[in-house]
Amino acid sequence: MAKQIQAIRGMNDCLPEQSGKWQWAEQVIREVVASYGYEEIRTPIVESTDLFKRSIGEVTDIVEKEMYTFEDRNGDMLTLRPEGTASCVRAGNQAGLLYNQQQRLWYMGPMFRHERPQKGRYRQFHQFGVEVFGLDGPDIDVEVILMSARLWQRFGMSDKVTLELNSLGSNEARAEYRDALVAYLEQHQDKLDEDSLRRMQSNPLRVLDSKNPEVQQILTDAPALEDYLDDESKEHFARLCEQLTALGIEYRVNPRLVRGLDYYNRTVFEWVTESLGAQGTVCAGGRYDGLVEQLGGKATPAVGFAMGMERLILLLETLELISDVPAPVDVYLSIMGSQCQGYAMQLAEWLRSELPGLRLQSHCGGGNLKKQMKRADKSGARLALIVGDDEANQQQVTLKYLRDNKPQQTLAREDVADVVMQTLIADKTY
Ligand code: ATP
Ligand code: MG
Repeated sequence: MAKQIQAIRGMNDCLPEQSGKWQWAEQVIREVVASYGYEEIRTPIVESTDLFKRSIGEVTDIVEKEMYTFEDRNGDMLTLRPEGTASCVRAGNQAGLLYNQQQRLWYMGPMFRHERPQKGRYRQFHQFGVEVFGLDGPDIDVEVILMSARLWQRFGMSDKVTLELNSLGSNEARAEYRDALVAYLEQHQDKLDEDSLRRMQSNPLRVLDSKNPEVQQILTDAPALEDYLDDESKEHFARLCEQLTALGIEYRVNPRLVRGLDYYNRTVFEWVTESLGAQGTVCAGGRYDGLVEQLGGKATPAVGFAMGMERLILLLETLELISDVPAPVDVYLSIMGSQCQGYAMQLAEWLRSELPGLRLQSHCGGGNLKKQMKRADKSGARLALIVGDDEANQQQVTLKYLRDNKPQQTLAREDVADVVMQTLIADKTY
């Protein structure tokens, strides 16, 4: 036998037993973003490598270690997108959608990062995200946080996720703080682990979210970002917190929350859960007021977040908030005879036209009634329609109830649509 080819490590198939769950979660998301008036944007999966280097930052985990980068046949350096924000900004700039305008956008799709695969962490994963351009006040930060909170509510898991908030201040304030932090860390170099030492050189703020307790101990006396915030950022953050409180959104200010990407400023936030083990962040975002300009556009404030779809689905499964996928078929059409094929196919097409939304599967491949009824049962259908040569000659159809103890009936062809609809409506499956 020929050797089977396997999927790439960390890149998963979404099999039929899973895809119904995904479709359901995606549908809830679509409804929620629509209820805030957001519009969808779809961008290519591949972009110039420079786009991510310039936006995410050269010395971040993503750009240093995680990107799928390759040279295409023209010699151009391309990268499979590791996240969605840079592409949205690139597309918005290119189409002239951003400067002096307001845009409320959302996207959903696969992202790629070469990480060590584990539960909740994959090499191809999916994000849903929103990006808002042209609004600089805390009110829009509140809106995107409210939207994410509404999603948890729709999924029935508001009590399983916690909102963490912080402000990174202006880019200048952050730079000033970085210097102070490095000066402090340099005095304690002997107690820092290798990872923190590396971060101290390349991206010092990232030392703050070290998981090492010893490093955390040293950080208790480190200069606090809060003390370096510029007045405007302080005011922005105070108003954000005030409005969230007024709206009943609970949050925890986490002064160590810095996010791994370079482009954030002012508000940053994460929704975290204890129900997923190590991969506890399901949604993360913040403001990135400098990015549009950094990518060649005219200065435009922006805020957004991204949600990990795999972690969302895992969470829904873990908390048993997602039911099994409903059977894909309502009605199974059994075809018993050599002469009735055309009649049966026409009947099926007519029913599909009469009852849009009806899920009807036609039997293919022949076989006796017993075999066909077995398939009908396996399909999960509530009803079987049976057509043989006699039915075809008399323009009739036999209807059999697969889940109820009711006698089968013979119907005139023109009555079938009504009876099917009435039965399925009574079952609440249509
Ligand atoms: P982490 O700290 O878990 O690596 P991150 O800071 O790299 O996350 P972001 O770039 O902010 O993550 O992406 C937003 C969200 O996308 C994350 O909160 C998470 O839910 C999801 N996500 C990120 N990387 C992966 C991955 N490799 N596999 C699955 N989901 C992921
Ligand atoms: Mg990461």
